[in-house]
Amino acid sequence: MNPTTEKKVFMETFGCQSNVLESDHVSSLLVKDHFSFTNEINDADVILFNTCSIRAHAEDKVFSRLGQLGEWKKQKEGRVVGVMGCMATSYKDQLLERAPHLDMVVGPDQYLKVPQVIREASQTGKSQVLADFDPIYFPENDVNRLSQPHKAFIEIMKGCDKFCTFCVVPFTRGREISRPSEDIVFETQKLAQAGVKEVMLLGQNVNSYGLGLKSRGKTITFSELLREVARVKGIERVRFMTSHPLDLPDDLVEVMASESSVCESIHLPVQCGSDRILKRMSRKYTVEHYLERVQKLRSSIKDLFMTTDLIVGFPGETDEDFQGTMDLLEQIRYDAVYSFKYSPRIGTVAARMLDQVPEEVKDERLARLNELAWKHAAQACETRLGKVEEVLVDGPADKTPGGFYGKSRQNRTVVFLGDGYRTGDMVKVKIDRHKVANLYGTVQS
Ligand code: SF4
Repeated sequence: MNPTTEKKVFMETFGCQSNVLESDHVSSLLVKDHFSFTNEINDADVILFNTCSIRAHAEDKVFSRLGQLGEWKKQKEGRVVGVMGCMATSYKDQLLERAPHLDMVVGPDQYLKVPQVIREASQTGKSQVLADFDPIYFPENDVNRLSQPHKAFIEIMKGCDKFCTFCVVPFTRGREISRPSEDIVFETQKLAQAGVKEVMLLGQNVNSYGLGLKSRGKTITFSELLREVARVKGIERVRFMTSHPLDLPDDLVEVMASESSVCESIHLPVQCGSDRILKRMSRKYTVEHYLERVQKLRSSIKDLFMTTDLIVGFPGETDEDFQGTMDLLEQIRYDAVYSFKYSPRIGTVAARMLDQVPEEVKDERLARLNELAWKHAAQACETRLGKVEEVLVDGPADKTPGGFYGKSRQNRTVVFLGDGYRTGDMVKVKIDRHKVANLYGTVQS
């Protein structure tokens, strides 16, 4: 595309960190190809939605947005509307049936083609669907165009082989594939040289990293990879997400405890506190196993910040099953809980289960669960009062004039007053108070 015919792109990202990383990757490809970006839909020539299929609500939002764009397209010749991400692989051509003005449907393994597909759609008006999986394609950060200069996501694996009965990921992202460790370490080194201080290793189930690589003659586990990344010069913080409780070996806990750059933080989705429902979910662990892993983590890592995902109203969930979840919550007392009402996803086993739970029951259980989770989160914040947190500065705090904000090693948001701080600075802050889940404090010299 000639720079004089530059097109402006409006991109909206839904869902998880993988989508954020992939949107950055596509943005970088588009900028290299002389596209530019706008935050105004009416100013745009191209609208791209990077979508998430994990819950019905996220998909409904995209369908509703798409429905509004028929008129927008008619207002200017050559305008293009595209869907990327999980909805592209889960719906494919069906998306064109539901939104006939859609020009392009591009799945996560086909992003290198996005600039070309936009150009062709704009010139020919023909729609294209590209949703095949590509086992060797992983999005990489462009060190010259990092959306944050001090933090980056690195995709270390994709897809999932667990096939939990409620989840679409094995269908939208394909089977589990690990990225070669030398590529991951090389990308980490490049990021460190570009000034990045914190990396988050991403995958649907990072703990099973390396399993697929064995068949190619390489043996490396996630624990070993984590240690290698943690030792890259210049990287001060390493996080990872998401962990499956089944694949959480002792050697991983030991790396977390012994490598100083690995942060005291873990997201460990439990999903539910009833063995009967865990079995129906095909999670392949019991409540007892989960509690034993939590005990191992907490006894090995001081001040561990622990978060989880919970689903309420899974098919067949009784009052007794739900009480099991509340009991588990009371026992573990998470720092934060991401709670969801079960929503049936097309093609999954659970969507075909006959004993779906009524919406009003799900609503009532979710409200009770959230009340307890918020109480625990507030109590966990109180334990930080008077402590000195090391904060990696993200920038000026919008709602606190003269203030800055950043993340502690535990991944809590910390706000403080000060002068002249820059994104990427590391600052010691003594915590004076908290409001909801945010901590507020004073800089220590
Ligand atoms: S482990 Fe996670 S990504 Fe994989 S199927 Fe289960 S919920 Fe989905």
